[in-house]
Amino acid sequence: MSDALVRFVGVRKWFPVTKGLIANLLDRGEKKNVRAVDGITFEIRRGEVFGLAGESGSGKSTVGRLAIRLLDVTDGQVLFDGQDLGAMSREELRQTRRRMQVIFQDPLASLNPRMTIGQAIEHPALIHLPELSAQERTQRVLTLLDDVGMSPPELYYGKYPHQISGGQRQRIVIARALITAPELIVADEPIAMADVSVRAVLLDLMMKLKEEFDLTYLFITHDLATAKYVCDRIAIMYLGEIIEIGTLAEIYEHPQHPYTRALLDAVPVPDPLHRRLEPLPPGEIPNPINPPPGCRFHPRCPIAVEGICNVDPPQLIQVVGDSVDHLAACHLRTGAHQDLDPERVSG
Ligand code: SF4
Repeated sequence: MSDALVRFVGVRKWFPVTKGLIANLLDRGEKKNVRAVDGITFEIRRGEVFGLAGESGSGKSTVGRLAIRLLDVTDGQVLFDGQDLGAMSREELRQTRRRMQVIFQDPLASLNPRMTIGQAIEHPALIHLPELSAQERTQRVLTLLDDVGMSPPELYYGKYPHQISGGQRQRIVIARALITAPELIVADEPIAMADVSVRAVLLDLMMKLKEEFDLTYLFITHDLATAKYVCDRIAIMYLGEIIEIGTLAEIYEHPQHPYTRALLDAVPVPDPLHRRLEPLPPGEIPNPINPPPGCRFHPRCPIAVEGICNVDPPQLIQVVGDSVDHLAACHLRTGAHQDLDPERVSG
């Protein structure tokens, strides 16, 4: 049995830009697309916490939605346990959906204000587990409330979302995700809206539940400090592409791509001796409708080489001398142009 639970193969997700009549006439009907995800290949292995990090607009949340087919791909395949999600019948998809759940960042928006906490947690079971009796569903809800630290569960069962704190609401969202006994949980910035004081507690809870429920996480975050706390492997996204992927140690101790290095250097550290080696590149992420030619990062890259980086798109390939898990997309760090890398040349 393959250890890949989810596999993305050459996946693109483009969103057509809708324009008004006049804009259409001026453009002579030329169709434009936002290239949110633009040809990515990677796998999420069973039992791991796979991090997906990058700035806002990099496409990471779109990847999360593609992983559980909340969105359809424009091109390529997303395989879940070896099965192409895009080729499944409605019934096959319904059967598969109980094996995958999602946690969004805003628990208040994720919960129906007119549903009690008990009803909210029970709801996915009504759809995906019709074989359970009402009594079995109630018992499962009470057990899950206990599992996520909402004790005594009977106290919280009949409350409404507005009657509990933000951190407790995220615990409810986590409990709701668990009721179908999923294998994969897509956690999209799961602690971003929680108070700083409860973030570590929520992460610890998620890791405890991972062991108890034998879960695999796709953990999406803009915050590399959070990713370091929980992830086994991490992929860095930039403008719809994965530009580096590796184990926790490879990404944090041996980053190769200048963007990864800049992101890491922007993470605050409590060490006054820490020097900023490469400040976060100036400028915004370029327009995903019309990405730059060559390496998409070249307009912001401090070591870009004219005539190479602005012409030739770098491939995501194994970093020379590192494990097969460590891939990067940079001409100067992985390929035939390492001699041009100012850091390597200067030793
Ligand atoms: Fe910078 Fe060139 Fe590497 Fe892109 S390929 S990250 S522009 S050095």
